[in-house]
Amino acid sequence: MSENAPIVIIGTGLSGYSLAREIRKQDKEVPVLMITADDGHSYSKPMLSTGFTKGKTADELAQSDAAGMTEQLNIELRTHTTVTGIDPDNQCVLIGDERLPYSKLVLAWGADVIRIPLEGDGQEFVYSINDLMDYRAFRGTLQGQSRVAIMGAGLIGCEFANDLRNGGYEVDVIAPSDTAMPGLVPPVAGHAVVNALKGEGVRFHLETVVEHIAHQGDGVRLTLANGETVDADRVISAVGLRPRVELAEAAGLAVGRGIQVNRQLQTSADNIYALGDCAEVDGHVLLYVLPLMACSRALAKTLTGTPTDVAYGVMPVMVKTPCCPTAVCPPAPEAEGEWEVEQDGNNVRALFKDAEGNILGFAVTGDYALEKQALAKQVPPIHS
Ligand code: FAD
Repeated sequence: MSENAPIVIIGTGLSGYSLAREIRKQDKEVPVLMITADDGHSYSKPMLSTGFTKGKTADELAQSDAAGMTEQLNIELRTHTTVTGIDPDNQCVLIGDERLPYSKLVLAWGADVIRIPLEGDGQEFVYSINDLMDYRAFRGTLQGQSRVAIMGAGLIGCEFANDLRNGGYEVDVIAPSDTAMPGLVPPVAGHAVVNALKGEGVRFHLETVVEHIAHQGDGVRLTLANGETVDADRVISAVGLRPRVELAEAAGLAVGRGIQVNRQLQTSADNIYALGDCAEVDGHVLLYVLPLMACSRALAKTLTGTPTDVAYGVMPVMVKTPCCPTAVCPPAPEAEGEWEVEQDGNNVRALFKDAEGNILGFAVTGDYALEKQALAKQVPPIHS
């Protein structure tokens, strides 16, 4: 029965829709059923942290609705439908009591936002923005408000800080680290971004955390571990993402930091594949667009009869902080070497070099961000 069943893709984010597009390049007819918990709008998630600068509503950021995507991709699409389980032995997806057979199943169901437990009665004012519906809700609640506090100084926290400042909001950033984007860029580059954001009027409260959030007027008062208080109308929690692995784990699939797949994007179960924010591809958990595009191209070929390994090249990440443009290509975790830094104010060129002087990674900010392409050519690809 499952041989005549469709390819089922769970998730209509960039991974799900990119894969469907790539499948159609290979095969115009093979039946594809997509299932999504959301409304199925197609949108570019990176644009969510540029929406206040550009004055874009959620509808303006959406590229197409579910009906448009169904027609464009010649697929069947079920929206507002949450998959509740997988039965790999019988090749079925479970939606409550309903059982849907698949010939091949692709998990493209993304990552969950990490929520930190907070004391106090102001929780309802805390928002996370990880999809278009979140963005719609946040934009709606911000009508008539002027002050936003952001928990987290990672890539997403910094991008929203810059974007909301550009949109005319007062912004406070609270984070336990002593600089921006620890773990992604070396401290010298993080400091440049913090300095530039401060120059735009963003207030930073570093090396501390929010301990308590209480109603205060129409907004909230945040009490920090260092004793300071911050008053805000709304709060963004941007403390990180965690690949969605629970349903996969419950179905007996191998999981680590993400759903583990090999270079053909195959999980430990026959005929089940994964890509995007939920996947750990050959040991790499990379929650960015370039990796998922590479995966969707390779997986489409595999699913249509030509088994193909994904090959990760050099994939620099651009941080959308226009006050201090930043590009980073982190060295592999096991890489041995040292950061070599040149700095002129907020312009930083940090090159991670091995003992022979080879560049294994880089972070460039400000004017040096223009060197991104040239540097990327010198860094070895992830898969050589
Ligand atoms: P998602 O977009 O999260 O899609 C998951 C899909 O699965 C959704 O349709 C959801 O409804 C569905 N789903 C989940 N669970 C179920 C279920 N049980 N049943 C049915 N459906 C389910 N990356 C970059 O490279 N550059 C950037 O500049 C950049 N900027 C970013 C800015 C922001 C604000 C954010 C949040 C991320 C940014 N990223 C950026 C990361 C990048 O956008 C993501 O890596 C990418 O969009 C993930 O796509 P995805 O399809 O894997 O997951």
